[in-house]
Amino acid sequence: MQECAICREKKITLLQLNDCSHCFCSFCTFNWFIKKNTCPLCRHPFTLETVRVKMNNDMLVRTRYHKKSIEEEEFMLKFIKYYLKIKINYLYNRQFACQSFSKILINLLLKNFNMLSRSKNKSMDIVISIIKKFFDANRRDFFRYLNLDNEYKNKYKVIENMLFQENIIDQSLCNTIVTV
Ligand SMILES: [Zn+2]
Ligand SMILES: [Zn+2]
Repeated sequence: MQECAICREKKITLLQLNDCSHCFCSFCTFNWFIKKNTCPLCRHPFTLETVRVKMNNDMLVRTRYHKKSIEEEEFMLKFIKYYLKIKINYLYNRQFACQSFSKILINLLLKNFNMLSRSKNKSMDIVISIIKKFFDANRRDFFRYLNLDNEYKNKYKVIENMLFQENIIDQSLCNTIVTV
């Protein structure tokens, strides 16, 4: 097991910042990245593009639990990366890129929805609160802007229903997350 340099919790997987090689758990990385884009240890600047999931090297036997944990980390990292791409493209008014990444994100969410709603990983709460904010933030304007075709509008509706009907989110976390 490896230890997160911030919260000191022992984890099966950590996220490694490529430039400086420092490792943190996903919960600490996401929470930190929302506020700052420098490494909490050495202050080297980083982007989520260069972050990768690091597995325990001496872990020869991988149980289902290990595999699940790695899958979850990889899903969350992918999710956060696409989310940031949408956000940046939205800010720069690049509608086509925004639309393409939104489609990828919607597919990613649908494919992993079971994992998302059943996971005991506390980092998943950050992901869910980002989705909720994302789906909530100036929804109408954002949607008109995205100009999604019907297929994706329907997929989006499915995710929205699942998220807002089942109360699978801790509301207090919502407040810490940035909006689109
Ligand atoms: Zn941590
Ligand atoms: Zn560092």
